[in-house]
Amino acid sequence: MMKSLRSHWHQLGVQEKLHILIQGSLIVLFIISMNWVTDRFEQQIMSHAEQRADETADGLINGMNLLMLTGAVHDPANRKLLVDKMRQSKGVRELRIVRGTSVVAQFGEGLPEEHAKDDMDRAALASGKQAFKRIQEAGQPSALRVVVPFIAQKDFRGTNCMSCHEAAEGSVNGAASVIIDLSEDEAELAEFKKNLWIGHLVIQIFLSWLIWLFVRNLIVRNIAQPIHNLQLAMTAIQHSNDLSQRANVDEKNPDIGEMARTFNALLANLEQAQNRLELFAKMFENSGEAIAITDANKRILTVNPAFEQITQYTAAEVIGENPKLLSSGKQTAEFYQLMWATIEATGQWSGEIWNRRKDGETYPEWLSIGAVKNTHGEIINYISLFSDITKRKEAEQRIEFLAHYDSLTKLPNRALFADRLRRALVMAHRQKAKVGLMFLDLDKFKAVNDTLGHLAGDQLLKSVAERLKHCVRSSDTVCRQGGDEFLILLEDIHSIDDVRLVAEKIMIAMSTPHRLGEIDQVISFSIGAAIYPDDAPDDEMLLRCADQAMYQAKESGRNNFRLFQPAGMIENWIGE
Ligand code: GH3
Ligand code: MG
Repeated sequence: MMKSLRSHWHQLGVQEKLHILIQGSLIVLFIISMNWVTDRFEQQIMSHAEQRADETADGLINGMNLLMLTGAVHDPANRKLLVDKMRQSKGVRELRIVRGTSVVAQFGEGLPEEHAKDDMDRAALASGKQAFKRIQEAGQPSALRVVVPFIAQKDFRGTNCMSCHEAAEGSVNGAASVIIDLSEDEAELAEFKKNLWIGHLVIQIFLSWLIWLFVRNLIVRNIAQPIHNLQLAMTAIQHSNDLSQRANVDEKNPDIGEMARTFNALLANLEQAQNRLELFAKMFENSGEAIAITDANKRILTVNPAFEQITQYTAAEVIGENPKLLSSGKQTAEFYQLMWATIEATGQWSGEIWNRRKDGETYPEWLSIGAVKNTHGEIINYISLFSDITKRKEAEQRIEFLAHYDSLTKLPNRALFADRLRRALVMAHRQKAKVGLMFLDLDKFKAVNDTLGHLAGDQLLKSVAERLKHCVRSSDTVCRQGGDEFLILLEDIHSIDDVRLVAEKIMIAMSTPHRLGEIDQVISFSIGAAIYPDDAPDDEMLLRCADQAMYQAKESGRNNFRLFQPAGMIENWIGE
């Protein structure tokens, strides 16, 4: 009951609440004032009744005095006559003389009704004080009974004096018991109450109307209505979802105007925040980098389209999951431990890792993870950004390849060869081993270009390179030095014979024609070779020696192999 009343109250608007409060307080005020006025009126009636009782008692005692003076008092019939006369006075329902003990002692018993009848009589006689009692009997009009004692006084002659009988001054001679009928007074009271109610009601209506007018003017118009208007404007703006709108500022009403200004300022902030959010949302949506946001427990909250595209997982598939889902297994547990430890300590980590797409394909990615903390310094989110660097890695590998390999034959180029040669010499020097270096130049290659075209020449170079690779061990290096020149590094050879053997293998391999489209083309090599440390102490010298030997092979008619020999000791091994 109380609960529903309370909820009803809360649902009421300011105006209704004010109305109820005003009416309620007026009603309470009027009930209090009515009771107060009615009480006053009742008290007045009672004091009026008491006064009448007093007057009746006074009349009775005066009558008794008169009877005393004439001596007629001793005849009970006279006293009865007096009492009956007095009883007829207005509003007196009952009147009795109550004889005091001194009177009884001196003048005898008197009439039976003249003796104390009840406690009120006795109390008045004993105390000398008036006794009152409201008599309210069912079916009877209410009345007031008053017992007025007669006190013996020195300067008073009569029944009440001390001269007429033996009585001490101040003693009680007797009393008058008067019952005053209050029915007329009560009717008057009822009439008064009725009129009071009507009057109050009229005043209540008039006053509440006046107060309401006042309140409406002062409070409703100045506060409630402007607030209501502001609230309507706020609701309209909220429903329109257009944060660029502003509420009207009521300049006549400084407080409400300030509220509207504050609301507008808030709207401006919100608009700014919304614009920023939209910008971030666009960045999030359109970022080429994959973005995943997790909660503090590393459960994915949201991912962007780039994430879906790179990982092949849809947002619905990964939300609520741990990013471990993408793990390729290529990184060790220690790697991840270190990574998370760095994030906890510094709030950030970035590096290259391998992840796995939904179809199982692994790919390299550049990953950055940042921890987002709240104002208490507790981590609430992790934001991870990553991009698929497969293409970048491929490009890097390509650049790396181009830097060290010949793009046509895919053989190591001069730079890589030079490096390997240097290392091989260092190693051979340390191990007291030998290194063989072969310098090869195709014979009359220009003619192939000229007759079959440059493309056929390229094809032939590739075919030659393939054959050369098959003529050496995997630990040996075949390099395209440039043009139609090749170099072969034979590591850890025991003697010149090992070099000769390779040269022989090459020449045999070259004796078979190369298939260039529809044409079979035979081509031969002029091969020179030098041995470290026998022929030269370093790489440059060794190259020069091998080159020189190759020229000697050319000069000796091509399709030939020459080992480096100091001047005048040229060895012609094959072909002549
Ligand atoms: P020689 O027997 O004296 O070596 O005669 P040659 O015709 O082979 O002459 P040389 O070695 O001096 O010439 C090499 C030629 O190889 C010169 C050039 O036209 C050709 N050449 C160089 N690089 C390439 C290439 O990448 N592709 C093709 N098709 N030809 C090339
Ligand atoms: Mg050549």
